[in-house]
Amino acid sequence: MVAVTVVRGDITEQQVDAVVNAANSELLGGGGVDGAIHRRGGPAILAECRRLRATEYPRGLPTGQAVATTAGDLPARWVIHTVGPVWSVRGDRAARLAPLLASCYRESLRVAEELGARSVAFPAISTGAYRWPMDDAARIAVGTVREESPAAIEEVRFVLFDAAAYDAFSGRLAL
Ligand code: ADP
Repeated sequence: MVAVTVVRGDITEQQVDAVVNAANSELLGGGGVDGAIHRRGGPAILAECRRLRATEYPRGLPTGQAVATTAGDLPARWVIHTVGPVWSVRGDRAARLAPLLASCYRESLRVAEELGARSVAFPAISTGAYRWPMDDAARIAVGTVREESPAAIEEVRFVLFDAAAYDAFSGRLAL
């Protein structure tokens, strides 16, 4: 069974097989986790992202899907890019978007397994620029990872940047 852990820290410093990027569908970099990964990982990641845009994803990576590149200069072997949904203040719309947030975790783990990764680090997808409420994001993230991790994945590490995110994820994990 997968070991799920929670640490407070920076996703770019994790020594795991694969780190997940909270990307946007353009795959050409951005702020938050995306900016940090490209800054620390160097230009090899962007070069592969551009190639993916030119070949498999000319219209961008759809929300809820995941795709891998090299991790460049990061300690990990791969970066798995996934696109979270943007939070909606309309309750009915948020309910429809929640499965897409779960899909980010599920698809990232599926790609990780395909690559042969055994350990995967996730940020709190959609909780920054995309404004998903932290407690609900933690519920979806922890639930999906616990219930749907492929057998070959031994460790999933949630890497939370600030105290509020750490508290939400560790609280959910303790349930
Ligand atoms: P999104 O667009 O999916 O909301 P963001 O990158 O804006 O993605 O934010 C996702 C979460 O990642 C936020 O909770 C943010 O505080 C956190 N975060 C930002 N930088 C890092 C980092 N270097 N490592 C881990 N988490 C980070």
